[in-house]
Amino acid sequence: MKSYRGQMLHVDLAARKSWTEEIPERWMKDYVGGEGFGARYLMDNLEGGIDPLSEENKLLFICGPLTDTKAPSSGRTVVMFKSPLTGTIGASNVGGAWAPQLKRAGYDMLVIHGKATQPTFVYIKDARVEFYDAAELTGKSAKEAQQLIREKIAHPKAEVAAIGEGGEKLVRFAAVMVDGDRAAGRGGGGAVMGSKNLKAIAVSGSSGRLPVADPKRFDVAVRQAIDELHAEAFVKEEMMVYGTPSFFDAMNGLGLVPSYNWQRTTTDFDEKLGHKAYHEKLEVKQVRCYNCPIGCGRYTRIPEGKYKGLEGGGPEYETVAAFGQKLGNTDLYSVAAAAYKADALGIDVISAGQVIATAMEWYEKGIIDQEFTDGLDLTWGNSDAVVTLVERMGRREGEFAKLLGEGSLRAARAIGKDAEKYVMHVKGQEMASDGVRASKGEAVPHMISPRGADHLRPYAATIDAFGYLEEEFGVTEPVDPFKEENKDWIKPFEELCMATNLLGVCLFTSITVAVKGKTWAKLYSSATGQEITYQDLFKASERVLNIERMFNVREGFARKDDYLPERFNTESAPNGPGKGQTVDQDKLLDQVYKVKGWDNNGIPTPEKLKELGLEDIA
Ligand code: SF4
Repeated sequence: MKSYRGQMLHVDLAARKSWTEEIPERWMKDYVGGEGFGARYLMDNLEGGIDPLSEENKLLFICGPLTDTKAPSSGRTVVMFKSPLTGTIGASNVGGAWAPQLKRAGYDMLVIHGKATQPTFVYIKDARVEFYDAAELTGKSAKEAQQLIREKIAHPKAEVAAIGEGGEKLVRFAAVMVDGDRAAGRGGGGAVMGSKNLKAIAVSGSSGRLPVADPKRFDVAVRQAIDELHAEAFVKEEMMVYGTPSFFDAMNGLGLVPSYNWQRTTTDFDEKLGHKAYHEKLEVKQVRCYNCPIGCGRYTRIPEGKYKGLEGGGPEYETVAAFGQKLGNTDLYSVAAAAYKADALGIDVISAGQVIATAMEWYEKGIIDQEFTDGLDLTWGNSDAVVTLVERMGRREGEFAKLLGEGSLRAARAIGKDAEKYVMHVKGQEMASDGVRASKGEAVPHMISPRGADHLRPYAATIDAFGYLEEEFGVTEPVDPFKEENKDWIKPFEELCMATNLLGVCLFTSITVAVKGKTWAKLYSSATGQEITYQDLFKASERVLNIERMFNVREGFARKDDYLPERFNTESAPNGPGKGQTVDQDKLLDQVYKVKGWDNNGIPTPEKLKELGLEDIA
């Protein structure tokens, strides 16, 4: 089929050897690519119950059929593994331009096996795979390592995925970093890489772009996708102009940005943390990933104060909320400094911020004290402590920070007392900063996503809190964000978002449903020569979501693991637009399981698996 290389590259770190394997054409039809290939591979090739930090785990880097095409935002890399944070399937996704190089080198997918005996980096140059000693890179930031590796292999344009100290030290929420500061952050892929003694993977391909099946029709579909992006007001007037920091103001007004570890929704932080303050206070440059017309990325520098001169990627919306509002911290410079340090150490900013938020609430409630925190005063809003704790967690310095590097749930269980009550997570993954009380729809992906608390797949607040209508989801009139009823549209929306992860494009093209399912189907059909409708594409997404669910079922996950923290049942939002709202979680789960064809325990029924052609994993 066109637009695929049809090859997966295997690299065995222990044996220092590599080989290729043909990707079955059936996979292309059934799972499309990206996260679809990864889910199927991990389901078939990982034994249930393995330790994610053992050499038995696999680490996958995957392209989609639209990777390295003219389709908008087509440089995403899907990174998959069994998650050391959650024990579920791990799936993260990063921008930059790493995947296009893998495709140019001749592969749709890379599978890393085993564990190197010493710190190592791998260089893939077309058909050649070279192994290098990485001892001198130990302790270097991902960005420094990327630069040093380019010099060592004498290829300034090679793309390099690397880990920082957080990954080396097995912080369970360590990220895989590409293109400087871009992170495949969620779920601990960086720790899996560290557990394999693998500091980095460089890749360069000498072939050009693959031809698509029907170039004329493909170009028309590309134009249509770009037009759809420009026609969507939020994308055009906010994301393209202000980047993700614009989310802060839009969401804050709707009560969707949590504060003080989700105890409150403080809506007056936008003067200090909103996009206007961001662009006035920081020196800001726009950056964009491979072939992306949106260009939501920001590179910033702190112009004054104690962090003067520090610079780096972001901070993105989630980072501002995680190190700012959630911690009662209105000092934007400390937020940016914490973000740069987290990126340098290669840890997920979302988990890092949420871990600190939990620790601050433990401190507030007297569960831990200053002796336990190794001298840190974790009073809300202590901006210095935020920056210091990020550094200590990434380096695993001191007993307290070392414990936090295990993630907030494991840390709470080690602390005991009432600590677990204040951990804001699902399946062990820390929640991002996307309100679930003022958008009952947004509660659902957090609850049922295969990778644990998930704010983006789909970003359901688009429909119920922001009031978008979408024919492809059957939403023809506004949905009440405060009601648990009428949430069936989440299923097709989730499938649209998953489709972007299968195709190899950025989810941001579709979180506000700018690029439609129909357009992605046209792009896929004209690129590959395999004619499909958007319903077929959504069906492929559904198939992949069910494989991922069954992967988790094999690991012992079920309905009991699909709940938000108790706080959302019992503590209503004390202020903001969601004032008085709690979440009736069972009502949401019953509804969503039914529409997905899962039984009352959240297990896909044999009939559903048969309908999806997945009898083999029933
Ligand atoms: S929308 Fe933003 S994150 Fe997505 S590909 Fe474009 S620049 Fe990268």
